[in-house]
Amino acid sequence: MQTGSGAQMQYLQTFALSIGKRYQELEPDADLVSPNKTAVLRGYEGWAYCSRTPDKQIFLVYFEKGCPRSQVRGALLNAAYRAEWFDPRTGAWSAAGMLTSSKIGIIDVPDFPADADWALRLTHESTDGDLPRVDLHAHIEGESPGDNGLSPVEATAISRRLGVRLGILGEGGCAGEIHDDRTLQTFLDSLAGQPVWRGLQVYGFDWQRCLSKSNLDQLDYVAADALVFPQPGAKSVWLWLPGVQFPDAQDFMNRYVDYNVRVLSQPIQVWANPTYLPASLQSRYDELWTPERMDKVIAAAVKNGVAIEINAHFAIPSAAFIRRAKAAGAKFSLGSNRHAVGIGEIDFCLRRARECGVTANDIYVPTRVLPAPRET
Ligand SMILES: [Zn+2]
Repeated sequence: MQTGSGAQMQYLQTFALSIGKRYQELEPDADLVSPNKTAVLRGYEGWAYCSRTPDKQIFLVYFEKGCPRSQVRGALLNAAYRAEWFDPRTGAWSAAGMLTSSKIGIIDVPDFPADADWALRLTHESTDGDLPRVDLHAHIEGESPGDNGLSPVEATAISRRLGVRLGILGEGGCAGEIHDDRTLQTFLDSLAGQPVWRGLQVYGFDWQRCLSKSNLDQLDYVAADALVFPQPGAKSVWLWLPGVQFPDAQDFMNRYVDYNVRVLSQPIQVWANPTYLPASLQSRYDELWTPERMDKVIAAAVKNGVAIEINAHFAIPSAAFIRRAKAAGAKFSLGSNRHAVGIGEIDFCLRRARECGVTANDIYVPTRVLPAPRET
């Protein structure tokens, strides 16, 4: 490896540590990637280096500039791997899609994003058909203040039993359970050491002011919905409460679409409860979500790289919406949106994704590698 700048060495450490404790299991083996350093004799400019965990679940590969298109060997046979490029100059990740190993465990590496050094992470994806089994909308507190919640250990046990990796969402921003750095740190600490992702469902637009960047950076993702709906000159309306009425449905929809676009303009990864309508309007879903309105919110999600949640609790968005979003290049996220009871139950999400032609390539999964739930 060329001696990079200090920043580059630091980013490489970030790359290695992105797989958490499993970093300690990595075994370097140059023969797992071709061409490797022995190939320099044949006149290649760049070398490639490879490390793998003994169970073949994770590969970390480094390609020097000038390395020709490459293959990785020694993978599980006929298995799905999520591929992600890591830019050692900036520390930025980019998705490289799902790759399938051959029947003798060879993976063809995609084209390099540019002519430079690149690192590649391959992670075996435990899948259902071809879709990842993840629930990024799991709350461990009870639904209402009096309801029983789950401890982090109980949530992990559910993850293992269902074979579903969980993203546990705290809730807050500048108000609510999480409203400052101290309360966010308490949430992060409570889940430290558990094989779950830690996300935050934010409300309002001020959360970046109340929560410091270094604290937010410890989160695996941020989600937001548009269910606390502002009213001109009045208090916001909580759209999920029974009895919420909007006499002028068209006016509501126009304002709701604009509000969703604003929510989607934030630095978030997941759009939660997308296209949700108050109970009084749900029977008019297909009429009110016109193609023009769908296209507005879909375009905002695509432009800002926000994944659209397929939500089991409310059975939204509609298949028509998801097909339209998929055609526009959107990413999706799978979420039960349950509190304690029912977390990890994503059958609806998987069914609807499949029905709409959504593939593993289209599904957002946080960058930090978790162990497969049944291995922990
Ligand atoms: Zn939620």
